[in-house]
Amino acid sequence: MPDIAEIGVIGGSGFYEFLTDAEEVKVETPFGEPSEAVTVGELSGRRVAFLPRHGRDHRFPPHKIPYRANLWALRSLGVHQVLAPSAVGSLTASYGPGTLVIPDQLVDRTTGRTQTYYDAGACHVPFADPYCPGGRSRAIATARSFGWVPAGSGTLVVIEGQRFSTRAESLWYAAQGWTIVGMTGHPEAVLARELALCYTPLCLVTDTDAGVDEGDGVTQAEVFEAFAGNVKRLRDLVARIIAVFPAQQDDDMCAHALDGIQLPFELP
Ligand SMILES: [Zn+2]
Repeated sequence: MPDIAEIGVIGGSGFYEFLTDAEEVKVETPFGEPSEAVTVGELSGRRVAFLPRHGRDHRFPPHKIPYRANLWALRSLGVHQVLAPSAVGSLTASYGPGTLVIPDQLVDRTTGRTQTYYDAGACHVPFADPYCPGGRSRAIATARSFGWVPAGSGTLVVIEGQRFSTRAESLWYAAQGWTIVGMTGHPEAVLARELALCYTPLCLVTDTDAGVDEGDGVTQAEVFEAFAGNVKRLRDLVARIIAVFPAQQDDDMCAHALDGIQLPFELP
């Protein structure tokens, strides 16, 4: 597969379309098919590959998303930077619906998801800082200048789902000082790291989790409605962030994540 894209965007719930005038590319991977055919087109002077995380018809629930195929497909198209918008619940009373959070930490509370490409050998990638530092700072600066001042740090706890949290779980997560809760941020981030990709999350708060402040518990309808109300804004922001991303990958920790590690196979 020739390198035809530089930046990848993995759209979350409600973020099913992104590029106009784009070409559909079907990518086969050793890990099966990605959630959808990847669309590749030009935006903000960059070649961009877009993939709706849940499929265009939202057929993949969080625990069934082909995460490995998705990241592999993007990398095999030449992508080195991944922007990952997603809908999240807030564990922080002051971060109501519509708040944009660009977290800097992640807690994995998923169970049973395959979270590595490397089933042979010792391939322990560094993950102390799970997200791309350059991608995060560019995203934060761009969101600020766009007038959508984000929470520029925070901890995303990723739960297995598909159910939402109980009140006790929400209170526990909040008591740990964790900021937001979602269902898809893991293993997506670590698989990106295992492919030495830069990965930057953009988390849109759609609801306040049960038990946090006056949160009443959340329904799927509320989440989809809140996301729909912000999706155009989020798309515009993603386009602006893409414009400030470099054409080449930074010489950063993501690019060097696999240095000194003997991989059982070649990367695409
Ligand atoms: Zn990076």
